[in-house]
Amino acid sequence: MSLPPYRGRFAPSPSGPLHLGSMLAAFGSWLIARHAHGQWLVRVEDIDPPREVAGAVESQLATLAAFGLVSDLPVQYQSRRHALYQSALNRLLAEGKAFACHCSRADLASQHGIHRHCVASQQRAHPAIRLRVADGSHVRFDDALQGTVGQDVDREVGDVVLLRADGCWAYQLAVVVDDAEQGITHVVRGADLIDSTPRQVLLQQALGLPTPAYLHLPLLLDTSGQKLSKSQAAVPVDSARPIPVLRWLWHCLGQDPAALDAAGQVPELLQYAAAAFNPHKLQKSALRAPEAPPA
Ligand code: GLU
Repeated sequence: MSLPPYRGRFAPSPSGPLHLGSMLAAFGSWLIARHAHGQWLVRVEDIDPPREVAGAVESQLATLAAFGLVSDLPVQYQSRRHALYQSALNRLLAEGKAFACHCSRADLASQHGIHRHCVASQQRAHPAIRLRVADGSHVRFDDALQGTVGQDVDREVGDVVLLRADGCWAYQLAVVVDDAEQGITHVVRGADLIDSTPRQVLLQQALGLPTPAYLHLPLLLDTSGQKLSKSQAAVPVDSARPIPVLRWLWHCLGQDPAALDAAGQVPELLQYAAAAFNPHKLQKSALRAPEAPPA
């Protein structure tokens, strides 16, 4: 199977309605994919029922549609892909690269929460499964915007949970399996996930999967330079008024506001945006919002 030259994705977790931060990742990843004449997919990361909010999947997809950001292939749902995660896990277990772990959070408190060897005080009926991270596992990758990023995964993260003790798949395993299985060549997402990338690279190597290119978009700051407060960051975007939000996000992405002046409707705005987008204008560090976020 030959890979397309560029296939990107937006992969929201349905833990609530889409907010400005997630829309920045959605619009940013869409623009970069279009600029590369590539495909852009949507994947619903609904593998964490305890954190899932009822109706959030539908609301997120409706918001994306109102903003004209529509997946080029049918939307995939992680909740329907258990068999893929199970077979990856079986492979790691069979190869001795993963192991059952009975340690609880309390057991690991004395190790600062970092698992290097089992210190379980008691056996669990359903242990977690972890990736064995060898001593000296230093991972480096080149982020297209942030530059070279390195992490000592053994010391800073420890053995990575793949299957949680509550029976849920860990985000790290599902995202790595899906990005490879869907032929994702470029991952564009928010900088809040940059710390996860080294462990995803390690997991790709353990599974013999390709490592996609990564670009982590800057986080949004409020007008006074503070990280968008939880309450602000969590404000759902208004699907009834996509145009002002798209203009605002465009400005946040460092792009020339005038390029969208003539756009009256969403499809037209997206067309102008795709044509005018200049990736060199993306700012690397946290972004100060140009003005109060659209209410
Ligand atoms: N599902 C993750 C989130 O909503 C994002 C996953 C990713 O882009 O890798 O934070």
